Amino acid sequence: NPGGYRGGKPEGINTDSSSHAPASDALIINSDIGDPVIFEPYWLKYGIDMVIPPWHSISYVSSQRQISPFFEDFLIDEIISVHKIVGNAVTKDRHIVIGAGSIQLLQAALYALSVNDRSPPLKVVSAYPFYSAYPMVTDFVQSKLYEWAGDAMDFEATSNRDGYIEIVNYPNNPDGTFRHAVVNGSGGLIHDLAYYWPQYTPITSPADHDIMLFTLSKFSGHAGSRVGWAIVKDLKVAQLMSKYIFLNTIGLSRDAQARAAHIMRYVVHHYSQKGSAPYRLKTGPDNTTLLFHHAYDALKHRWKELRGLVVSGARFTLQDYPLAFCTFFGETTTSHPAFAWLKCEQDRNCEELLNSVNVRSRGGHQFGILDPQYTRISMILNLKEFTTLHSRLALLNNSSQTQC
Ligand code: PMP
Repeated sequence: NPGGYRGGKPEGINTDSSSHAPASDALIINSDIGDPVIFEPYWLKYGIDMVIPPWHSISYVSSQRQISPFFEDFLIDEIISVHKIVGNAVTKDRHIVIGAGSIQLLQAALYALSVNDRSPPLKVVSAYPFYSAYPMVTDFVQSKLYEWAGDAMDFEATSNRDGYIEIVNYPNNPDGTFRHAVVNGSGGLIHDLAYYWPQYTPITSPADHDIMLFTLSKFSGHAGSRVGWAIVKDLKVAQLMSKYIFLNTIGLSRDAQARAAHIMRYVVHHYSQKGSAPYRLKTGPDNTTLLFHHAYDALKHRWKELRGLVVSGARFTLQDYPLAFCTFFGETTTSHPAFAWLKCEQDRNCEELLNSVNVRSRGGHQFGILDPQYTRISMILNLKEFTTLHSRLALLNNSSQTQC
């Protein structure tokens, strides 16, 4: 058989969770990046194969219907169905722009909001701690249209609040908190909703903002497919964003769009067999576990383990999250973010402390925080990495108690 996928199964992945003993002390745990490999066992167990025939995506263009001919109609339809099932975003009378991950769409949005401004460069701000990529992405090409200006709270306190774009991220990476815009002015707003899915946080109402960014990476774990989408109110803004994507990459790979649609169709199909939200039962047709329920359970379990460890000592503390009624699950739940915002209560530098046990994390300074007592660890590692991370943190916790 000359065709077909030639890669192997991802290493260290086993759907049997009992086989994940911690790794040896020498193995470096990379908890710095937010790679969503927590989803791999799910897709290994339940995913259905997908074949893209060789005649597909010969042409650059695909659609007659969308604001850009490079966006696949069937992907836009699936995106709308996913949001309808989850209830996390308004899509009626909105325009959908597809890009290479939400990071490309963020750049497209910055361009669209600034290109016709009369007094560039616009100041780009976000309340700290902010996602570490925002300053880098904003200033990378040294655009004349916009420039990074740091913490939105500081900006709000200045007298001149003209000419700005605020990025609002909820639930926020790195600390998982729920955010609102803080600058009181008439600047542009970009809402980064990468983690506004029921596995991470209660869905309380459909989000309805001018520009909302979503990504397949944190929806289903398919970060390598590089698929993101923006839901945009204003047609002109959506057209400018599409123009940016056209000049940048001539659309997104049609193969990637087909793959994203396939994954979404699978999720939508399984949930829609169960009627509409609230979805109280975690099993779908043929006893499959439903995606959001599966990911929710896995994250809840990890958070319980981490919180148990933290309260058993005095060395670390974690952010607390409120309870809220989740319309998707039909019950009161709390947040189980993709990252834990760890504070070291006794050590001066939390990132360095974790480094000492071969755990890489992302120190608070990368999120605009000057206090080195904070560091961000990933909760979406694979199970073996998480088990190892947990046992090394437990070791640090216990050794501090012994010293006391
Ligand atoms: N926004 C936030 C808050 C993120 O955490 C990430 C990924 N870590 C992104 C955007 C980028 O996601 P993508 O893979 O779609 O580029």
